[in-house]
Amino acid sequence: MKNIDTALEKLRTFYESGETISLQFRLNALKSLKKVIKENESAIIRSLSRDFHKPSSETYTTEIGFILDEIRNVEANLKKWGKPRKVSTPLHQFPASSSIIKEPYGTVLIMAPWNYPFQLALSPLVGAIAAGNTVLLKPSEISSHTSKLIAKLVAKAFVPGHVNVILGAVKTNSYILKQRFDYIFFTGSTVVGRIVMQAAANNLTPVTLELGGKSPAIVHKDANIKLAAKRIAWGKFINMGQTCVAPDYLFVHSSVKEIFITEFEKFIHQFYGKDASKSAHYARVINSSHYARLKNYLKQGTVLIGGDSNDRKLYIQPTVLEDVSENSDIMKDEIFGPILPVITYDDLDISLEFIRKRPKPLALYIFSESKAVQKRVLSQTNAGGVTVNDTIVHLANPALPFGGVGSSGIGAYHGRYSFDTFSATKSVMFRSSRIDLPFRYPPYGRIKDKIIRLLLR
Ligand code: NAD
Repeated sequence: MKNIDTALEKLRTFYESGETISLQFRLNALKSLKKVIKENESAIIRSLSRDFHKPSSETYTTEIGFILDEIRNVEANLKKWGKPRKVSTPLHQFPASSSIIKEPYGTVLIMAPWNYPFQLALSPLVGAIAAGNTVLLKPSEISSHTSKLIAKLVAKAFVPGHVNVILGAVKTNSYILKQRFDYIFFTGSTVVGRIVMQAAANNLTPVTLELGGKSPAIVHKDANIKLAAKRIAWGKFINMGQTCVAPDYLFVHSSVKEIFITEFEKFIHQFYGKDASKSAHYARVINSSHYARLKNYLKQGTVLIGGDSNDRKLYIQPTVLEDVSENSDIMKDEIFGPILPVITYDDLDISLEFIRKRPKPLALYIFSESKAVQKRVLSQTNAGGVTVNDTIVHLANPALPFGGVGSSGIGAYHGRYSFDTFSATKSVMFRSSRIDLPFRYPPYGRIKDKIIRLLLR
């Protein structure tokens, strides 16, 4: 894989040149990226449409606009984030001052998935550039149109050696993972996350793993049912359900189940019309193997809403299932498609126990107007992130770190957290040469011991 060896050598040489240390250099690079994205907005929209019929408004909001906003946030704050932070120094180290310095790791690897192929490749890239690294970027082979476009745009936006995009599938990835990087940032499945972490262990490379899993939603009896139905339908069917933080399955209180389902169906029709296959606002399944997997789930419960599919168009109707067994594939795998299993409950504690017994989710959603219920759910479950009374939107606040916990991931990013993720922390103490207190030096004695004991209690 000569192209990878050459790319890596160039990235390392460029890092060694020291150019990326300057904050102004990093800001100029991001400005150039922003310009290239803006100039190529229609090409980006087209490539996502070719990959999986992604509606243009969704592409703007969740891919293009998201990245422009991340860049704007870096532009406004980088000088502040990049400043050494002075911290206090204990009396026993007198005279001295201390600082925390953020420095780039060096040459980093970013591996991205196909489901938000532009955002999930470029959002970590913005953080890595802001922190002063050089980057080998590996987008997914599955979203091939967008990945090829990313390679073109990156070549236009950055000076040679700063960022390099490598295209390819598993064989390419395996070769890349054998190389030594200073940091690895991976977004994708838990299965591949394990492979990445094992490869990283060989070189003791630090990692961020942004993984997936099953993110539950709960609609309690005191929720605003109409709004809950609307917001869950939006979060479930955006990107055709192929969203890492989509509500995967739903617990609904038995007393509000019927009204919830009625409202949910109304919103599906309001969003996508009576026949979603004719809607310009509804994406498609990415490929035939994911389609076959999803079609199989349709048989694993009783259809309450939807249930139709079209093999040729890789279309699955927005669907709600009930009577799903805990042991069925649909309740074991991450669904990653527009099918929502619904479980009715009477006792919230039993639902919370169900969630706790499973791998810790990337996201969790609770719909309730009661602060006590919200607090109970927050304190009795673990999750990477939670939105109360809505879905997905916690990840759109750059002031909140975004990441998983347990098998849904390690580490977090977005906004300042991206800068921190891609920066090594260097602790520095500045000592004065003018005074040199004698207590720590041998020969030790009673008076020295006494003073040390006084200082270190
Ligand atoms: P994936 O794990 O199959 O692929 C991700 C990346 O790994 C791709 O670049 C792919 O080329 C590479 N890859 C695939 N198989 C590999 C192998 N055997 N060895 C080395 N590299 C390999 O994931 P996907 O199907 O592209 O994405 C869907 C998954 O990603 C879902 O589980 C979803 O929840 C998760 N996800 C998580 C987040 C998050 O932010 N936490 C965001 C989006 C998607």
